[in-house]
Amino acid sequence: MANLRIVILGPPGAGKGTYASRLTVKLGVPHISTGDMVREEIKRQTDLGKRIKEYSDKGALVPDEIIIELLAERLRKPDCSGGFILDGFPRTISQARALEGIAEIDLVINLDVPDEIIVTRLSNRLICRRCGAIYNLLTLKPKRDGICDKCGGTLYRREDDRPEVIRERLDVYRRQTAPLIEYYRGKGLLRSVRCDDIMTPPDVIVEEIIRIINEERRPSSS
Ligand code: ADP
Ligand code: ZN
Repeated sequence: MANLRIVILGPPGAGKGTYASRLTVKLGVPHISTGDMVREEIKRQTDLGKRIKEYSDKGALVPDEIIIELLAERLRKPDCSGGFILDGFPRTISQARALEGIAEIDLVINLDVPDEIIVTRLSNRLICRRCGAIYNLLTLKPKRDGICDKCGGTLYRREDDRPEVIRERLDVYRRQTAPLIEYYRGKGLLRSVRCDDIMTPPDVIVEEIIRIINEERRPSSS
């Protein structure tokens, strides 16, 4: 593998953001989360933010052309020249095809997580309003209630982490995103990581992902 251009694929609540934010530190390439980009636009109340809020709040996908443009712009920044970790993109086959026109991908890590874990996790998730750090009341509690360990910001529950919206997001994932598993398997880029114990600490999964990355970078000669 010439480069570290990695996609992290998985259902909502699989841990994409949690692992990607740790991988970015260990690998020294930027973590690009389209979900964070969407939330940032909404928070800044830009024209675009106003248009995409209705989709995001309902658990629907933002239209492909909007998200593809946002991502393409981000990938043109110089910090992406040595690679990147994509979290939350692509989410549809048409996004995957568009990505091929923008950048090459070396590896797709598929997080394979059962539904029960996802629902439990998302309904206990809290996010820092200031820095976006992710916490979980069951498995990754902040040291002080409601306060971010990293920056002291206040923690909140995402608008789309309400139970009805979680169900909708899982549905959207199955219909629109899960087909990417076969798509990338067909291209020989897919490696799956199974996480079926909610108590597994994030760093254990992160180590597993790093092991896979190293394996792919030094393919055996056999
Ligand atoms: P999740 O925890 O569901 O993986 P994200 O933080 O990745 O959530 O995304 C939150 C919301 O932002 C999505 O439900 C969707 O509305 C929007 N979004 C993020 N990435 C994309 C994308 N690649 N295509 C379309 N919409 C997206
Ligand atoms: Zn914070």
